[in-house]
Amino acid sequence: MLASPLMKPLLYSIRMHASSGGRHLSGAEHLAPPDELEALAAALVRRALTHPGGRAEHVTINIDPVLPETLRQARLPDVRTVRVADWEQGRRAAHRWLMVAGVSATAATAAMYALQQGGAPDGSAMRGAMLLDAVSGARLEADQARGVRASRMDLTADATLQLRQALAQRGLDNAHVREALTLAGKVLLAPGIVAELCWSDDPDYTAGYVAAPGFGYVRYPALKPLGERRGGRAFFFSPNDFDLDRVVNFLERETVLFTRPGRFLPDLEAGE
Ligand code: AMP
Repeated sequence: MLASPLMKPLLYSIRMHASSGGRHLSGAEHLAPPDELEALAAALVRRALTHPGGRAEHVTINIDPVLPETLRQARLPDVRTVRVADWEQGRRAAHRWLMVAGVSATAATAAMYALQQGGAPDGSAMRGAMLLDAVSGARLEADQARGVRASRMDLTADATLQLRQALAQRGLDNAHVREALTLAGKVLLAPGIVAELCWSDDPDYTAGYVAAPGFGYVRYPALKPLGERRGGRAFFFSPNDFDLDRVVNFLERETVLFTRPGRFLPDLEAGE
């Protein structure tokens, strides 16, 4: 049945973007019913103005309706931690897991090098993620300064509660982990995705992860030195049938709502 254009949307996508001096500072978003939008907008503005990277000069809030028939529901990825002694060991472990996911050594090394340089050609952090050919390591996105932003994903209230309980039992219930898991959950549904690599640009947050459809979300407590401001995300794609427009449309426009957490698997030692 086609929805009438007059039918009230059940959910809205609300997105915040903050910048300072023309540079990306922070972004965050939710899917929410209309009666929650006012409080969420206030929380997002507060977040933009109290970002550890500095106070935002420009803050944009966008709100768009989500048509119920375009909403996809899914489960979050499984989660595990690989314990590492320091960020160098973390990078070596992440490199190995990327290869397990099907990324070539060349592409994994290229992504790590690019993230270490800040991602954008001028060495600053990108607003979105870099897209890489999982075999050659070539960059696939059209704008290498901006990258591609995964957007329009969130957890239901039930899934948030369950996830927070499971994370709290492991000392991991913080916004970084919850938001990264939600983002990775959507990225792993992208057509042709092989893996994702991430470490934060927040200087106080050293953890990062590798995610892949086969093994879910694998976090490393250290993937960069404390105080390092450069970070970012790399999404790796299979070169077979890669379709940039389709991938960008999925990541930026399609809506995914996670209705339950994935499994929590026992920690592993990096072991070399
Ligand atoms: P964060 O995990 O928020 O510290 O973000 C680290 C980096 O990941 C940012 O500098 C961006 O390059 C990238 N990033 C953040 N949010 C997104 C997103 N929604 N989609 C794609 N890349 C993102």
